[in-house]
Amino acid sequence: MLKTYAGSCHCGKVRFEADIDLSRGTVKCNCSTCSKTRSWVGFVGPQHYRLMSRAELQTEYQWIPPGRDAPSIQYHFCATCGVRMPARGDIPALGGIVFAIPIAALDGIDPEELATAPVMYVDGRHDRFDRAPDDIRLM
Ligand SMILES: [Zn+2]
Repeated sequence: MLKTYAGSCHCGKVRFEADIDLSRGTVKCNCSTCSKTRSWVGFVGPQHYRLMSRAELQTEYQWIPPGRDAPSIQYHFCATCGVRMPARGDIPALGGIVFAIPIAALDGIDPEELATAPVMYVDGRHDRFDRAPDDIRLM
């Protein structure tokens, strides 16, 4: 069931809302940037993400994955405390514009609901988002 969650960074300057159905699954990826941040996200369409604070309170990062000619994801962070905020991607395999909502930044979430949310592991390191990597122990 689609539920609306409030999310925020550590210092509280950046706030957002997202409508997510956690029972449909969350994603952990092993690409180089997801590994550095131990990323755990839920993907939602643009109609299910709302930034509730001023855009300039965030900063942004982009990188070009090996074998590509342009970045496909804008990563956002609180400019004050550095906590990762929802990223915006243009990913045809996911239907176009999507936001990757950091599960760890959601506030007031029921721990039981979180613990039972299915996790899909994807092998972003090898550009394979349709399969789990051979080893998921450190994801
Ligand atoms: Zn902050």
